[in-house]
Amino acid sequence: MADIFTKKKRSEIMSKISGKETKPEILVRKFLFANGFRYRKNDKRYPGKPDIVLPKYKTVIFVHGCFWHGHNCPAGKLPETRKEFWKNKIQGNIERDNKNKIELEKKGWRVITIWQCELKNKKIQEKTLINLTNTLHNNVSYVKPSLKP
Ligand SMILES: [Zn+2]
Repeated sequence: MADIFTKKKRSEIMSKISGKETKPEILVRKFLFANGFRYRKNDKRYPGKPDIVLPKYKTVIFVHGCFWHGHNCPAGKLPETRKEFWKNKIQGNIERDNKNKIELEKKGWRVITIWQCELKNKKIQEKTLINLTNTLHNNVSYVKPSLKP
């Protein structure tokens, strides 16, 4: 099956998705702030420049786009054209993410990854964010919320 977009258009779309402050990150930050959490954003001093750093909770949060970070979900599916190119690119991102996670954990940080698809509608957002605050308050490991309604 051919890609419905031209190469140029596909690249445009992909670069938009990877914008510096994509909406999902803002959503998580706003929610945390409203719930009394204070954080730093995109702190360059930490491996991978996490989207959210919560020093008090010794936790960093990455909000990952499913496509760019290779999530195993429909949104993480590779385009049909230039498949090899995207596969290599995204494999590189996955490896870098893992390396950053290991480095952070070695330094005693708890690393939480929230995927874009875990914020895709109000109902799922609510589950994800409530689960996140429970994790932070109770100092337990983050368990993925069930995405089934
Ligand atoms: Zn996903």
